[in-house]
Amino acid sequence: MRKDTDCTKKYADTTIFVRGIHFFEPITGAISTPIYQSSTFRHPALGESTGFDYSRGLNPTRSELEQVIARIEHGRYGLAFASGMGAISALIKVFNPGDHLVVSEDLYGGTYRLFNEYYSHYGFSFSWVDTSDIARIEAAIRPETRGLFIETPSNPMMKVTDIRRCAGIIHRQGGLLVVDNTLLSPCFQNPLDLGADLVVHSGTKYLAGHNDTLAGCIVHSREDLEPLLRNNQKSEGASLSPFDAWLVLRGIKTLAIRMERHERNALGIARWLREQPVVERVFFTGFEDHAQYGLTRSQTRGFGGMISFYLKKPEYVPVILKNLSLILFAESLGGVESLITFPLVQTHGSIPEAMRLSTGVNDRLLRLSVGIEDEQDIVNDLALAFDRCKKENL
Ligand SMILES: *Cc1c(COP(=O)(O)O)cnc(C)c1O
Repeated sequence: MRKDTDCTKKYADTTIFVRGIHFFEPITGAISTPIYQSSTFRHPALGESTGFDYSRGLNPTRSELEQVIARIEHGRYGLAFASGMGAISALIKVFNPGDHLVVSEDLYGGTYRLFNEYYSHYGFSFSWVDTSDIARIEAAIRPETRGLFIETPSNPMMKVTDIRRCAGIIHRQGGLLVVDNTLLSPCFQNPLDLGADLVVHSGTKYLAGHNDTLAGCIVHSREDLEPLLRNNQKSEGASLSPFDAWLVLRGIKTLAIRMERHERNALGIARWLREQPVVERVFFTGFEDHAQYGLTRSQTRGFGGMISFYLKKPEYVPVILKNLSLILFAESLGGVESLITFPLVQTHGSIPEAMRLSTGVNDRLLRLSVGIEDEQDIVNDLALAFDRCKKENL
């Protein structure tokens, strides 16, 4: 594969989504990046290498994905892992035992579990705060604070954190800002442009986009951290397989049109949900009366396709989950298929009850990952399930 990436500089990100970095494979002209399903690579002679030795460290298919993700997240370096958790797990090791991190309290439950149940036993300490409130971040900073880890918009409560101000706070402290950009994807938000040091993704979600694979990645521009991260990928071995790298590359080709459609459907469905008698409150960053609408507009190019809502009664939850037929009751988000989850017991089940309740994850909360099906079909599916609640006289 060609090594120069300069030829892509003149193209917009949305073109790179579709075409990748290399456009074609030079030996055969293959337009689809080949799946280099080889664990190891021949050395031409002693001391010579094609650049590829062993696929845990470097693989040409994964390498194309790593260059694409770096380019579309506006970073210098990209690393692809076997899952989002694999990426976050590698990333945490740029910090040292004794370091303290301030973390968004309203974040993916798996990240909470990883930090709280594992890394807290390896000398790290964490403070969980509502990072949409800058004063609370400042209050949580300690002399040993070296990291600020945020998810914005947050999941599932859709609170928005000011990335630029977070960068200011943690940089004054000599620490690093990490942003989990899974919910908006690089199509709608580029945290590195706003001062973040490291971006992490669950590639399983919008990047791959079809609910058919697990993947994760890290993007950054820090020359000093790159050897550490690269060595971690190689040493711990959570590298993404060639086939899964290919699936993510294939997903990214349609990222821009999928995100547009996810968002358009979500805008319509969020407005419709607000008018439903069984619904108490809808959380969606695209509402003009969302508390951080202005901030969202200033740091993103879109609202994404995630909506959460409170029902008026907890008794509605099982009835709705049972009576949906198009929308599937399953964990995960960001795929072309609409999925609904009950965060209390699913994605956020590992978060302690008191913390869950204080952040708003209660027994009436549902989270909808709006797919790219026909909008009216999704609305009709919800309408039928809501009607069941009334018919059953709950
Ligand atoms: C799913 C998810 C993760 C974890 O990613 P996996 O690919 O499932 O390991 C991390 N962060 C966010 C925001 C997620 O939605």
